[in-house]
Amino acid sequence: MDLQYSEQDREFRAKARAWLSANVPAEARPAHGHASATFDRDWQRKLYDHGWAGVSWPKEFGGLGLSGLQQVLWYEELARARAPHYINTTYVAMMHAGPTLIARGTDEQKAFHLPRILSGESLWCQGFSEPNAGSDLASLKTRGVVDGDDIVVTGAKMWTTDAQHGDYQELLIRTDPDSQRHKGLTWVICDMKTPGIDIKPIRTMLGDEHINTVFYDEVRIPIANVVGEIGQGWSTALATLSFERGLGFIGDQLELYERVGRAVDLAGKLRFDDGTLAIDDSAIAQKLASLKSDAMAIRAMTLADIAETDRTGQPGPKGSMMKLLVTNTHKALSEVVGEMMGWDFLEFNGDRSAHPWTYDFLWSWIFSISGGTNEIQRENIADRVLSLPRAR
Ligand SMILES: Cc1cc2nc3c(=O)[nH]c(=O)nc-3n(C[C@H](O)[C@H](O)[C@H](O)COP(=O)(O)OP(=O)(O)OC[C@H]3O[C@@H](n4cnc5c(N)ncnc54)[C@H](O)[C@@H]3O)c2cc1C
Repeated sequence: MDLQYSEQDREFRAKARAWLSANVPAEARPAHGHASATFDRDWQRKLYDHGWAGVSWPKEFGGLGLSGLQQVLWYEELARARAPHYINTTYVAMMHAGPTLIARGTDEQKAFHLPRILSGESLWCQGFSEPNAGSDLASLKTRGVVDGDDIVVTGAKMWTTDAQHGDYQELLIRTDPDSQRHKGLTWVICDMKTPGIDIKPIRTMLGDEHINTVFYDEVRIPIANVVGEIGQGWSTALATLSFERGLGFIGDQLELYERVGRAVDLAGKLRFDDGTLAIDDSAIAQKLASLKSDAMAIRAMTLADIAETDRTGQPGPKGSMMKLLVTNTHKALSEVVGEMMGWDFLEFNGDRSAHPWTYDFLWSWIFSISGGTNEIQRENIADRVLSLPRAR
């Protein structure tokens, strides 16, 4: 891997930095509800209007057609500028629905959806998990019966993030009633305004209701909305998951380094009851130094991963390694900050901008479940990266 930045890379970074410093919204993102979705749509629209949406998406689909490395530079500049966090209500659309459509969608699906995704007009949600499936995704039961030009869907999906804001959904259903496991599944685009859909919010420990149970009662979805082929949905779902686990959290991986820097700044200002600065506590200083080196290692691994993805054209199983490492480092970082802040760390009203460290701590637990649990990432690493013998 060549770690030298080219002249174009340097120019791109400088341009991105200048644009972000003039355009990052001054106001904080609303913590909850439709106001937060409106804020995210507006920010995405602004990026789109100024030519910054889809940095590494191919030009033919409205992106900038730039390299994976320039995508990385963009995320680094977003983190540096403290721009709105990119894991927001546009996340599913931009990070995995769009890439899945580019890889597997029909020309009509691409022409209709991709511009709407890039401009923030369409928000998407992901309907994979079910009440009794979860990690064992292949045991899902929501059924789809082909009837004329439609598939009629009945069942339930669980933990659907932002279903209440979603215009469309990546929906995985069982279309062959006699099938088992990963056979007989179909990946469809579900318009969330279709009659028969009922969304029930679930309150999280963050104090918000961003996740939901979604019920489907004879919901008619046109066969034209199938991505891939009927009965071959597992393969499309694996493509979606590889985008989600492989590239979906890259911004977060790179932001980690900035966060460690902020924790070090905090340690240089916070005083314990006896008047000493937190940074003068050798145990805390040591933990922060070790987290800084972990964050640097994660950044180097991210760059190596991007170089490999650029070479092979698709993200590989190493995404599981990165997700596990980042999740655990996030958790460790917020625990050190908790140690420094003491009781103040327990003050929390659900607002990320008012209580960023506590929010990050709670989020690190969520992150260790959503998008595949830590245990499942370890299974993937054992199986697909290390080729260890299977226990079952
Ligand atoms: C905040 C949040 C947002 C989410 N958003 C979405 C979304 O938008 N769309 C969506 O489709 N899903 C979403 N999910 C669902 C998420 O992907 C699942 O929660 C996850 O896959 C785990 O499934 P489960 O909750 O049923 O737990 P289970 O599968 O029941 O697991 C329970 C425990 O057993 C462990 N376990 C299970 N199987 C194994 C195994 N084979 N080996 C070792 N340990 C194992 C798990 O790691 C976990 O610790 C979200 C979840 C959360 C918490």
